[in-house]
Amino acid sequence: MKYVSTRSKSKPVIASEAIRQGLAPDGGLYVPEKWPVIDLDQLKDLEFPQFAARLLAPFFADDPLEKFLPEICRRAFDFPLVIKKMSDDHSILELFHGPTCAFKDFGARFLALCTEKIEDPRKNERLVLVATSGDTGGAVAAAFKSLTKIPVVVLYPKGRISQRQEKQLTVWGSQVRAIAVEGTFDDCQRIVKEAFLSPNWQKKHQLISANSINLARLLPQMAYFAFARLKSKDASFIVPSGNVGNATAALWAQHLGFSIRQVVLAHNANKTVPNYFNDGKWDPQKSVDTLANAMDVGNPSNFERIHHLFPDIQLLKERAAAFSVSDEQIRETIKTSFSKQNLICPHTATAEFVRSQLSAGHWVTVATAHPAKFETIIEPLIGQTVEVPKGLSDLLSQPSVSITIGPTLAGLEGALS
Ligand SMILES: *Cc1c(COP(=O)(O)O)cnc(C)c1O
Repeated sequence: MKYVSTRSKSKPVIASEAIRQGLAPDGGLYVPEKWPVIDLDQLKDLEFPQFAARLLAPFFADDPLEKFLPEICRRAFDFPLVIKKMSDDHSILELFHGPTCAFKDFGARFLALCTEKIEDPRKNERLVLVATSGDTGGAVAAAFKSLTKIPVVVLYPKGRISQRQEKQLTVWGSQVRAIAVEGTFDDCQRIVKEAFLSPNWQKKHQLISANSINLARLLPQMAYFAFARLKSKDASFIVPSGNVGNATAALWAQHLGFSIRQVVLAHNANKTVPNYFNDGKWDPQKSVDTLANAMDVGNPSNFERIHHLFPDIQLLKERAAAFSVSDEQIRETIKTSFSKQNLICPHTATAEFVRSQLSAGHWVTVATAHPAKFETIIEPLIGQTVEVPKGLSDLLSQPSVSITIGPTLAGLEGALS
């Protein structure tokens, strides 16, 4: 099984090479060259870790990682995947029961274990470099800290993530350095890209990209959409979306033959993708701050993969739709959901709002984070405190360390030297 770049100018590579590289040399993102044919009967009645290992096996055919897949999936997915039935035509796929209480734990832990197993010909020190709009950094930091010895540098937009998200970046000791950037998520992402392109950095480190452009993050996400689809009848998914990695994974599961009727992308006030669905023009915007901060992305990099799968927007529109949700609608939805005994985070609220606007049919709302991570937004709306899961409360009691830099690569180099 080979992977090709969305920009078609790099040579096809096997999965472990695509994972090692992150971005393809031509600047594109890796996508499967051919899609395997999946035998659904083989996948019935399995727990998620076994299901994922079997579903992903053809994606690692002839790859050194293939033989490790059962072990990687067992160790990576050692927490529950919950599908909550709300009514006959509505379920919630809760993806936030991992160590950092967001869906990013699936991809980050799978990536960490793949990275640990990949033998790398380059000799210099490995370093994970990651930009985060909120939850990626925490999941990557926790995953590499608990599963590997590889050091991590996390860049986040100073003052633009929740206190509890920040805690999840800054408590890990010397293996994980947290860098607060005076700027936006797009600045953080740009600095990371510059480092990857810098000959100096390449000389000093073997950089590992842990952002959602990395193939190792998308594959397990595709697996949970496939798993959830088999567990519910005739489902469409509503996916809270920012950098559109999770939505890409849902479209990949759909493409693999898991008859998913529709993938609906719920965005916040960052409307680049909904605008594309409206007028067919790809016109990235500056990101704006919203209550669903992990989705504050003005230039969603994974869209390149969606575009590669559906070069024709009409075909995309047969399989998917996209909507934008305002902060006011997020607040209202958190309140109405709570009154129905369903406490949700601001990201999940975008999807629940979109569901309230859609016609009947079986909808699966994807719940991307635990509400306790966003207590400063939620508690004033519902007038009571949100219970904190044990893993998160343990973290909150640890001391934080971070360094602040200006929004430049030179600033980062200064902080690390
Ligand atoms: C990262 C994140 C999103 C957005 O996911 P993408 O794959 O970037 O579209 C949504 N909700 C939460 C809680 C997140 O952490």
